[in-house]
Amino acid sequence: MIHDFKPIFRHSLNADNAFDSICSSCLQTISTEMNEADLFQHERDHECDPMQLFEASYFTDWSRSIAI
Ligand SMILES: [Zn+2]
Repeated sequence: MIHDFKPIFRHSLNADNAFDSICSSCLQTISTEMNEADLFQHERDHECDPMQLFEASYFTDWSRSIAI
């Protein structure tokens, strides 16, 4: 079932030593926490916004940029 799908989250360390969690599917920064372990609760609760998914797929589909 589609709502069982869970995206992968990428963690990045900011200059202020906080961690961002970025959804690999909708490319949204879903949380920023000082403790990396605190990101997991936000990741568990995250559901991709369909509009964000559409925009992420539209702008990362490189086949659209190929000239005819
Ligand atoms: Zn997402």
